[in-house]
Amino acid sequence: MSDDCIFCSIIEGDIPSHTVYEDEDTYAFLDVNPVSDGHLLVIPKQHAEQLTDLDPQTTEAVFRTVRNVAAAVEDGLQPDGVNLLQNNGEAAGQEVDHVHVHIIPRYADDGFDFTFDSSDLDEDEAEALLGRIQDRLS
Ligand code: AMP
Ligand code: ZN
Repeated sequence: MSDDCIFCSIIEGDIPSHTVYEDEDTYAFLDVNPVSDGHLLVIPKQHAEQLTDLDPQTTEAVFRTVRNVAAAVEDGLQPDGVNLLQNNGEAAGQEVDHVHVHIIPRYADDGFDFTFDSSDLDEDEAEALLGRIQDRLS
């Protein structure tokens, strides 16, 4: 619980929200500014700013809820697809500093353009990148 966190206030019931699902560790609710019908957020009840601040058990709980709620969205809303989005840091578009996963149902005609400029992977650069990441994984 963080005093100045809007999502902690939602969990506490001090700010209203449309509950989709709740269990001991996680909470899912409709996004107040949806980019498509059924756009919702899954959050841990424990306050943590970014994904890598979460402990392993809470991480598992969040992604279990993401998977189960996404399945219910697919069954109930019959979208043409679903995007999961999880922003960490201001540069990545994170506006609320409490970990959250967006579940965004997609419809063929939703007009939501989610494309990136990309380049070709350079082999030397790939090796250098792997070296810098894999050393940290045990
Ligand atoms: P992000 O840019 O990934 O930090 O996304 C934050 C999301 O939280 C945005 O999609 C907002 O519309 C949503 N949001 C902010 N305040 C509320 C609120 N009180 N209830 C529901 N969703 C909210
Ligand atoms: Zn919080």
